[in-house]
Amino acid sequence: MTEPCRFCARLRHSPSFPGGVLYEDPFFHATFWTEGETRSYLGHVIVQSKRHLTSLSELTPQEGVALGTLVQRLSAALGETVHPELVYLDCYMEVVRHLHLFLTARYPGTPPEFLRLKVTEWSGAPHGDRAQLDVLGNRLRASLNRPASG
Ligand SMILES: [Zn+2]
Repeated sequence: MTEPCRFCARLRHSPSFPGGVLYEDPFFHATFWTEGETRSYLGHVIVQSKRHLTSLSELTPQEGVALGTLVQRLSAALGETVHPELVYLDCYMEVVRHLHLFLTARYPGTPPEFLRLKVTEWSGAPHGDRAQLDVLGNRLRASLNRPASG
């Protein structure tokens, strides 16, 4: 039987995400975005809803709070582990109509022609294989699991 939605299927049938599952709660799931590459941009995270939602407007108030908190925590964890200049957040849902968004670390020195949508294409930014994703995944999970200060 084929799944009608690629991202619903991704949750059910991908038990081994490179770098592991970075975060999971009853509503959301976060992993590195790798698309089966052998070398992936280090610091490109996808958050997807567990429910099949096709718009941010379909979030319940509780899910909205959870998503906002998760975006803040992942942004802080990326900041602490890879020391980016910026953490981008983008959400389009044009290709796959299942709620998902990407957090992407923009590394210092990224040339202007690689800003925003092309940031992961800059060869000067750190890329890594599965073992390096595993190391970064462990560091991100450690950062996420540390109690927030302040
Ligand atoms: Zn879906």
